[in-house]
Amino acid sequence: MSVELQERPESKAETEEQLTDGFHLLIDALKLNGLNTIYGVPGIPITDFGRLAQASGMRVLSFRHEQHAGNAAAIAGYLTKMPGLCLTVSAPGFLNGLTALANATTNCFPMILLSGSSEREIVDLQQGDYEEMDQLAIAKPLCKAAFRVLHAEDIGIAVARAIRAAVSGRPGGVYLDLPAKLFGQVMNADAGAKSLVKVIDPAPEQLPSQASVKRALDVIKSAKKPLIILGKGAAYAQADDVVKSFVEKSGIPFLPMSMAKGLLPDMHQQNAGAARSLVLKESDVVIMVGARLNWLLSHGKGKSWGEPGSKRFVQIDIEPREMDSNVEIAAPLVGDIGSCLGELLTAMGDQFPAAPDGWISAVNTKREANTAKMNQRLGSDTTPMDFHTALGALREIMQQRPDAMLVNEGANTLDFARSIINMSKPRKRLDVGTWGIMGIGMGAAVAAAVETGHPVLAVEGDSAFGFSGMEVETICRYNLPVCIVVFNNNGIYRGTDENNNGDGDVAPTVFVKNSRYDKMMEAFGGVGVYATTRDELTTAVNEAMDTGKPTLINAVIDENAGTESGRIGNLNPQSVVKK
Ligand code: ADP
Ligand code: MG
Repeated sequence: MSVELQERPESKAETEEQLTDGFHLLIDALKLNGLNTIYGVPGIPITDFGRLAQASGMRVLSFRHEQHAGNAAAIAGYLTKMPGLCLTVSAPGFLNGLTALANATTNCFPMILLSGSSEREIVDLQQGDYEEMDQLAIAKPLCKAAFRVLHAEDIGIAVARAIRAAVSGRPGGVYLDLPAKLFGQVMNADAGAKSLVKVIDPAPEQLPSQASVKRALDVIKSAKKPLIILGKGAAYAQADDVVKSFVEKSGIPFLPMSMAKGLLPDMHQQNAGAARSLVLKESDVVIMVGARLNWLLSHGKGKSWGEPGSKRFVQIDIEPREMDSNVEIAAPLVGDIGSCLGELLTAMGDQFPAAPDGWISAVNTKREANTAKMNQRLGSDTTPMDFHTALGALREIMQQRPDAMLVNEGANTLDFARSIINMSKPRKRLDVGTWGIMGIGMGAAVAAAVETGHPVLAVEGDSAFGFSGMEVETICRYNLPVCIVVFNNNGIYRGTDENNNGDGDVAPTVFVKNSRYDKMMEAFGGVGVYATTRDELTTAVNEAMDTGKPTLINAVIDENAGTESGRIGNLNPQSVVKK
């Protein structure tokens, strides 16, 4: 019988071994874990991987430069709590992506950089391979974890490790090194399928100890002038309800860090943003919720924090080593935001210590005075526009469109927009983050559109826009609902610097006067608008947000407007020697 069976052609096919390869195993491993979107740039040796991934139903978005693909992946990670994927070629492509990976790690955003690499044997003997580089070694110090996969049967485990490393504990960037040879390795399809791992509970809850909860509560109860600082870790945690309950039940004024804006609405009566200097200086107990005492908060000390020794800190963070990083933390609460605040709320029961009245009214008085001052300036309608005129218009638009995503980078454009544009929902504001870098704009805008489906308003300084400007083609290619407003004041900080050395060059901070950034968008089929007045700007943005058409509005801003380094001029050394 068996002889007879073997002679039948269809039976022959039955006994033929089904095969899979590195390409397919990697795609299957990612999809099995719900990772269905790749941001990248094709090339050797990952071109076919991108094609096959797309053919398998994944969304594969190609960029013009890896750094922007990487920034998109990082933002996808921030918005979804699963690692965003960035795919690059070897050496230079890898290095371009690495900037974004390091930035993601610094910001505690989960992402995985998948880079093709050259042949190990040649790279390790430094025999000069095509794009030779020991990528694993270079990536290691710049991210949370780095792995190399040499055998197709290890792809499942490698992807699982990468996911866990990216999202568990403090999130961050992971590098996965994929030598060219790996993709073509063939193995039995059944064995391949069995080698894949679906990660169970990739970011497990982390509960604080009861002792630490009690300690924190004791410190909070002792406060006469308490303050809550919400950071982007709190936004990332997606524990929005418990954050809101904690803030509202306690009645304590809160200060949102820039990407935590909207976690509670900026218009919330407990928002002390408009009384920032007062609350930092005068508070006696500061409850840090997913925010670090880094340079953005003057390291928790110095003049802006009032008298030395006048504060005690409660800090909630998933990373134990964050505690005491800059100042002593009286009550460290180590765990995830949802669990920590949940435990605090339970421990407090109904006996929540009320925030003292005198403190609340002092904060309110200051906030109202500062808000009134600001509102007066925002009504301005100067032509050419200054920052307040243009941002006054954008603020109104964002108020009417609470679901829209906001991307913001620049110097003055960043500083003014951060304080002027109110956010009303969590995780809607994406900006320069912990490093305060330029260049995140278009990557963040693409990810915001792709991951949320909501319209995106990107408010960009003319200098900041330049770092990722070529990605307007990407935005047009995928027809994404992104409206970019370039604040064009002819230069970095402003457009009026002069060079007196006689060589005919312009000053290092000055760009081509009256550039037409709007034409860049038109070149790729998008809508370009040249706006010189508040009305023109308002009309154009509303139209873009309504139609969802890729749009770039060149907003002409007075070239005298703007100060050196925006609000961080203190970090910019300036020579006082006259020569
Ligand atoms: P910001 O710049 O807004 O102040 P940071 O990036 O400095 O925010 O701080 C974010 C903090 O949040 C980091 O210390 C990080 O460890 C922490 N964090 C991130 N995710 C969580 C989470 N789910 N639970 C608790 N802490 C978190
Ligand atoms: Mg400028």
